Amino acid sequence: MALGSNIGDRAAHLAYARSRLGALPGTRLVAASGIEETAPIGPVAQPPFLNQMVLLETTLDPTALLAHCRAIEVERGRGPPPRQRWGPRTLDLDIVRYGTKTVRSPELTIPHSELPNRDFWQREIAELEREHG
Ligand code: AMP
Repeated sequence: MALGSNIGDRAAHLAYARSRLGALPGTRLVAASGIEETAPIGPVAQPPFLNQMVLLETTLDPTALLAHCRAIEVERGRGPPPRQRWGPRTLDLDIVRYGTKTVRSPELTIPHSELPNRDFWQREIAELEREHG
């Protein structure tokens, strides 16, 4: 999962996400990449992001995991959808990959459609794979 934040205490938002994700039912936080600062993507002028990739082990299916992610984002002060596309966010959680599973539904695309476009996600995944295969 990818964690991102570009409003408020960004490192605290990421730390909150790590601890909440690791405490979800049937879920364990196995590893976390380093935290990287990246320039915002897209047409909206906004502050830089802090990003981090985490490796989870979970018995939650992708849909249930997504629902928990939305709830965690809202806990950090992010409003429910619809939201400004590419806009600033206190906390953004994305399911980038889910093992070898492929999902194509109206609400979920796995692997995440932005994965090929985001070098920092690929770097962070490579970092986790070096240590955890
Ligand atoms: P965003 O505003 O970037 O957080 O995107 C929100 C919506 O993207 C969510 O409500 C999901 O339904 C959808 N979405 C599609 N694929 C994914 C994914 N792999 N991880 C997280 N959200 C996804």
